[in-house]
Amino acid sequence: MTPGIEFNARVREIPVYPAASTYAYDGDLVKLASNETPWPPPAPVAEAIQRGICNLNRYPDPQATALRAALAARHDVAPERIAVGNGSCAILLAVAEAMLEPGAEVVYAWPSFSMYPHLDRMTGARALAVPLDADGRHDLEAMAREVNAATRLVIVCNPNNPTATALTPAEINAFVTGLPRRVCVIVDEAYVEFSLLQDPDESLDLLKRHPNLVLLRTFSKLYGLCGLRVGYALGSSEFKQAVDRVRQPFSVNALAQAAATAALADGDEIESRIERTVAERLFVEEGLAGLGLDTSASQANFSWVALGERDEAELLRGLGERGVIVRGGADLGEAGHIRVTYGTHEQNERFLQALQEVS
Ligand code: PMP
Repeated sequence: MTPGIEFNARVREIPVYPAASTYAYDGDLVKLASNETPWPPPAPVAEAIQRGICNLNRYPDPQATALRAALAARHDVAPERIAVGNGSCAILLAVAEAMLEPGAEVVYAWPSFSMYPHLDRMTGARALAVPLDADGRHDLEAMAREVNAATRLVIVCNPNNPTATALTPAEINAFVTGLPRRVCVIVDEAYVEFSLLQDPDESLDLLKRHPNLVLLRTFSKLYGLCGLRVGYALGSSEFKQAVDRVRQPFSVNALAQAAATAALADGDEIESRIERTVAERLFVEEGLAGLGLDTSASQANFSWVALGERDEAELLRGLGERGVIVRGGADLGEAGHIRVTYGTHEQNERFLQALQEVS
């Protein structure tokens, strides 16, 4: 018998990222499991991708210069302070590599984005996972209490995945003000554009006040480019340099750089997507309430639904049989829930119809 190859002990500790069941079903699916946008890339973005195809024999710009310049102009933040990655997940992994190690600690809320536990498990750091409050919101006071001399990193997911609740910039400002400056605070703003509690630019003001603050953003959600993988972080130049040291050199591919740069220029499309999403949020939340289901206060492009007496697995199966794929809470840190992304109006109607049939 061939002896098995050996892995380092930490690999066994790393949770497997919970993939959506979307890929297990065929046919005309209503895909509401991954907090994607339902709209395909608009024409200027598709054209930028098309033009980039002819140059795929060349490596991409390892510094994503044009994209970072466009982001710098858009956010009024110097390009030296903008790190890019193969999705914001890649930046999170780079942060773990750059900041965490055995003896170091990281604080985040729970349930929150399922990547965060990877960061401590892959590095041997200790995680303080602080329960959300009864409304599914970050308990910032409890999180601050967990910060000590060993803490290197605090992550705040705003709006939070999976509960969709959001904090205001004032709450985040007060929280960061109370922490030592040597602790890096990442505010993961993957869904910030959907929050009515703030203008996304308000977070940028916080960057000016707190040199230890990092805003993590992505082209995967509102910009609808998750298939290409581009995320970025706005922080200090030291932070950007640390991410660059540990990431692979050609981390963001050429088509992704071209598409993201073009997407940034298309402000009208972006505004319209926000409006459509907020309208669908009202529609879906009203429909859920009509079925007697409670949700936490969503400021994102998805709802977190408490199932009460209903059986989560049975409900997921029933929806799946009707071609509607949502995410079960058991995979996301709290059983007895579903997380449903808003799709087009027709898709949301199909979801509510299917839910009525199975509940
Ligand atoms: N942060 C949060 C809160 C998310 O929900 C996601 C995606 N589900 C990401 C980051 C990662 O996004 P990406 O790697 O596609 O940029």
